[in-house]
Amino acid sequence: MKQHIYADNAATTQLDKTAFEAMTPWLIEEYGNASQPYAFARKPKKALAEARCTIAECIGALPEEIFFTSGGTESDNWVIKSSAFSDSEKRGMITSTFEHYAVLRSCAAIEHLGYPVAYMCPTKEGYITSEILWKYITDKTRLVSVMYANNEIGSIQPICELCEIAHTHGALFHTDAVQAVGHIKINVHELGVDFLSASAHKFNGPKGIGFLYIRNGVELLPYEDGGAQESAHRAGTENVAAIVGMATALKTNCDLLEQNQQHILNLERHLVTQLNEAGVVYKRNGGDSKLPGLLSLSFPGKDGETILHRMDLMGISISTGSACDSVNTEISHVLRAIRLDEDYAKGTIRISLGKNSTEADAEKIGCALIRIVS
Ligand code: PLP
Repeated sequence: MKQHIYADNAATTQLDKTAFEAMTPWLIEEYGNASQPYAFARKPKKALAEARCTIAECIGALPEEIFFTSGGTESDNWVIKSSAFSDSEKRGMITSTFEHYAVLRSCAAIEHLGYPVAYMCPTKEGYITSEILWKYITDKTRLVSVMYANNEIGSIQPICELCEIAHTHGALFHTDAVQAVGHIKINVHELGVDFLSASAHKFNGPKGIGFLYIRNGVELLPYEDGGAQESAHRAGTENVAAIVGMATALKTNCDLLEQNQQHILNLERHLVTQLNEAGVVYKRNGGDSKLPGLLSLSFPGKDGETILHRMDLMGISISTGSACDSVNTEISHVLRAIRLDEDYAKGTIRISLGKNSTEADAEKIGCALIRIVS
């Protein structure tokens, strides 16, 4: 049987076995509603509190600064819409043109209601620099939202510097760190951000669960109204199993962060060397500061969709644009934002290696690509 090679870890990751095992008791035996006052709710309540502490520790936050959500999309929607609707003289919002659609479409929704949104264009290498933000920010800016790492090209943004500029203008700062959490070291206090979005299925946790970090003292209106869960900030019965799975997966990844990074970087080097030695003509998108293992490769004169399907026939899963965009054969908004030549943009694929990728996988991906594009 043909062995499947998974190289689309930016779309989702394999659930860690330890996370899966940590989840099962909360589905079968300890299924009580964590918000109930009786004894049967005590264990799930304790599990929630422990998971919150674990997650907070992994990103340098306090437990009370972590709010569980259904994932990255909800966290992004919550920050952008709720900040806009807060009563304030400051109504302006600034984001970038190459954010995930969870941010871009939330911004479009508030724009539709009359809130002004400005869109910063990244450099051709895929960065929002301080100079760019300086051109847009005013004293009317309420929120700046810039992603930590781009999901298509992997470029890591200078969040600390951007955040400082926002704060000097009395604006709040949000980062969509869905691609970064659990993969690179993140400390919210060192960064200085007010809000940070994360999603468990991107760091070997379960799907449909994530969190929003809200800095202590920063007011944010609840996004989902109903019960008093999550300190009356996010209503809905807590998904204890998924939350425990998320905390376990994040801790596992954070404990082995450098080891995983080294492993993934070695595979990445192996793959790039193979392509270079074979004399393949391509461009790697994104500048020097990138997520380990995320390769956005553009082959001039080729068609990314065709490469994806031929790789698929060889048992290799990769991506063209972002996963949420995979039915759309048009050039992605990210590649447009970095002003990639059309000829290159059409021939772009995304390979995203993960901690479970092996050297044999990298070798096979390289061989398959060389065969297809040569
Ligand atoms: N933000 C970024 C940067 C992403 O890459 C994704 C998923 O691809 C999301 C947000 C949405 O996250 P979720 O799938 O948890 O809703």
